[in-house]
Amino acid sequence: MSAPDPNCIFCQIVAGAIPSEQAYADDQVIVIQDLNPQAPVHLLVIPRRHVSGAADLDATDAALVVHMVAAANAVAAARGLTASGYRLVINQGTHGGQTVSHLHMHLLGGRQMHWPPG
Ligand code: AMP
Ligand code: ZN
Repeated sequence: MSAPDPNCIFCQIVAGAIPSEQAYADDQVIVIQDLNPQAPVHLLVIPRRHVSGAADLDATDAALVVHMVAAANAVAAARGLTASGYRLVINQGTHGGQTVSHLHMHLLGGRQMHWPPG
């Protein structure tokens, strides 16, 4: 595995150099508590491998993307969200609201959400 990028906060979290509250981990992803939660459940599914964002994904990353969704589904189920539902979000770029340039999927749940998100 490559050394953590000192300029990437999520690479450092993956490496354990910055602490996080971890909900799930496997060989491809970690799932951590968001520092600034926007819902009763707000977790981040973060690939161990550095990918800058959704725009950098292509067909060769299909397995990783499915793995991220499956991990989110498993953690959502463990948190009792399957019946009530939840939201999976990937923000891309400035207008998408992306603030950390390491791919991550938000898992939000525990309250009614609305559309469009604003
Ligand atoms: P985004 O705006 O989609 O790039 O999401 C970045 C998310 O990372 C935000 O919801 C932040 O609250 C969250 N965040 C930033 N730094 C940390 C950290 N050290 N630990 C956990 N979550 C973080
Ligand atoms: Zn990174």
